[in-house]
Order: sequence, then C-alpha cells, then structure tokens
Amino acid sequence: MYQAFLIKYGEIGVKGKNRHIFEDTLVSQTANALKAVDGEFCVRKENGRVYVEAQSEFDFEETVEALTHVFGIVGICPVVLMEDEGFDALARNVVSYVGEGYKGQEFTFKVITRRARKNYPMDSMEVSAALGERLLEAYPKLKVDVHDPEVTLHVEIRNKINLYSKTIPGPGGMPVGSAGRAMLLLSGGIDSPVAGYMVAKRGVKIDAVYFHAPPYTSERAKQKVVDLAKEIAKYTGPIRLHILNFTQIQLSIYEKCPHDQLTIIMRRYMMKLAEHFAKEEECLGLVTGESIGQVASQTMHSLAVTNEVCTLPVYRPLIGMDKQEIIDIAQKIGTYETSILPFEDCCTIFVAKHPVTKPNLKSILKSESHLSGIHAMMKEAVDTAETIRVEP
Ligand code: ATP
Ligand code: MG
Repeated sequence: MYQAFLIKYGEIGVKGKNRHIFEDTLVSQTANALKAVDGEFCVRKENGRVYVEAQSEFDFEETVEALTHVFGIVGICPVVLMEDEGFDALARNVVSYVGEGYKGQEFTFKVITRRARKNYPMDSMEVSAALGERLLEAYPKLKVDVHDPEVTLHVEIRNKINLYSKTIPGPGGMPVGSAGRAMLLLSGGIDSPVAGYMVAKRGVKIDAVYFHAPPYTSERAKQKVVDLAKEIAKYTGPIRLHILNFTQIQLSIYEKCPHDQLTIIMRRYMMKLAEHFAKEEECLGLVTGESIGQVASQTMHSLAVTNEVCTLPVYRPLIGMDKQEIIDIAQKIGTYETSILPFEDCCTIFVAKHPVTKPNLKSILKSESHLSGIHAMMKEAVDTAETIRVEP
C-alpha cells in the first residue's frame, strides 16, 4: 500500500537560518542508511519536509528498521501520495486506505486536514467533515471521536495529497555529521558503546580506539569490540576503529607502579594515546563510558586525575546515570547482548584488590616517573596500531 514515508524531525525544525544545513545532513544520512536496504529510494526535502520515496519494490519492515537508526528522525509516517483528482477521488482513496490498513477493525477516529495550497475548493474543516462522513457510510462500525481518537487520519493537501495515519517512533537526536567528530574509547563493556551512541545521537561523527593486551586478552575479546563497533555503526555509519597493543605499557605499569594506582595510571595512558589519534583525525573531543562512583577509577577524585592528562574536552554522557539506566539503553540499542559475552578485558586482568579511590596527583606523577622508556612504548603502540573501517 505504501510507496513513501514522511519523515518527521524534531529539533532541526527550530534551527532558524541554519536549518537547511541540518535538513541536508538528515537527507544524506537517511539516504546512506537506505543503501543497505533492498530497493531503490529517493530521499528529498520539500517545503520543510523530508520524504523517502521507493522507486522499486522494497521490503517495508527492513526499510523502517533502517530509518529507526537515523538520528534526527522523530517519526516515520508511511504515507500515500496522490495527485489531486478532485474530492470524490480523494474520498474513494481514503475509504480504500482505511479498508486496507485497518481491515475489519473497529475504532474511533478523527480526520485532520491541512491545506498547504489554499486554492483547493473546500476548506480544511469541510474536507475533514466530508471525509468523516464517507468513512462512516463505508464502515458503519467506526465512530468519530474528535477529542481522543484511536486513529487520526492526516490529509495534507500539498503539491500531491499526503494521506497518513501511523507514526513509527524514530531515535530522535540530530543527524550524524551535523556536530563535528569525537574519539570514543571503546572497551568490550556495557558502558562505552552506550556512551558512543549517546554522543552520536547529538549529531557527532564517531571514531573509536580500543586497547588490547595480547596474550592477556584474546582475539575473541578483540572481535567482541569490533562487533560492538558494528552495532554502533548502524546508527553512526562506518567507524574508524584503531586497535592498539597496550601490553607493553600495561606490564610496565604493573611492574613499576604501586598496584593500588594501576587502573588510574593505565587510564591516563589510554587517554593520552586516544588523544593522539583524536588530534590526527581532527576530533573535537574524547568520549568515555565513565559514570561518577561506578568503580574506584570513576570517583570524582579519580576522574580529575585521569582528566589531567587531556587537552581535548572529554565527553562523558553517562556521568549521572545508574548502571541499570545504562543497561536499559544498551538493551534498547542492541549492544547489550554482545557486551555481556564473557571475554576478559585488559583492565580486569591487571586490577588491584584495593584500588585508590582518592588518588593524589603528585603521588601518581611520582609513580609515572618510574616508567622508563614509556615514550618509546607509546610511540610503538601508535606505530603498530591496526586501523579498521567498521561497517554497520
Ligand atoms: P565499559 O567497559 O563498558 O565502559 P566499565 O564499567 O568496565 O564499562 P571501565 O573499565 O572502568 O568501565 O572503563 C572506563 C572507560 O574507559 C570505559 O567506559 C571506556 O571508555 C574506557 N576504556 C576502558 N577500557 C578500555 C579499553 N580496553 N579500550 C578502550 N577504552 C577503554
Ligand atoms: Mg570496561
């Protein structure tokens, strides 16, 4: 029945003079997302609206699934577009639309008509009332309820007449690419994929860096991170994932620094290395999955000491969230199942029994001064990094 979708967007609509830039980004992101779907589509904007029109056979479910991953979209309305061939033709189409779309169902309804084109011979109220009457004649079990209808039929008289009644929720946010680029520190855990999702939701293009420590962490642990990046890429488009060998640095910290400071010192080196790649790729910030108080390395004291090595802003979108709230999002966006696979993480292997919760910067700096050769190790980690382009 449907050959097109009307795409509703939220915040973009209030962007004033820059609005067309956001709309164009939304159009191109939507077109990108549909490339993976069987069928030919045309995505276009027209009078402050975005339309997806199928130009061949297409799979409805698959198309909707792809559209629900495009940030910036708040609603996906399957729409029937028709030429204006007079009121009678419109009424017949509306009657058959309801017959097909709601076969045999009983419900209350309301018709809302909007005329973008004032040369239509009837006004909006007249069109709504006349269509309501035709529907009641055709389907006597239906009832009109103008206050709280179960089905609202939208009839919009534009260049073509738009007829729609169903809205599938989109992910909201802003189209990816409308807000710069950031480097996500992506581990195999639950939090960091959610953090990446949340920043991307605001329009930020994401690159990622993962620190692995073979042979202490396995190929499967690494594959898990690639799989998580694939899940995030369904929302963000392709992600450049840098995989750094962190073993030498980690062993050096383990040998030369007090064990209660291991995680903090490790995190500081992760940040420094992530920043190297961030700057190379003109990222405007780093992103982590940290949340205040979740673990010893995420108390405010610890975060301050970790942050001290960064010159770029660090975005921590989960900062005020409880674990359960993070899990709920992970489940909703489809990363949870992969995140809970039981592969070891480099942080959990070199973890102290009693990590500091109130690290002292001076003392951390003193410990780090024992890391002879650390600069060469960092350079080697950068030089030997593997970069892969992760497609959704
Ligand atoms: P998650 O790993 O999902 O973030 P977590 O609670 O295990 O959850 P930590 O291990 O304390 O978090 O790590 C804090 C943050 O540091 C992570 O959210 C992530 O951004 C970054 N991080 C930790 N380990 C790695 C790693 N191996 N590679 C890249 N980033 C990492
Ligand atoms: Mg982790």
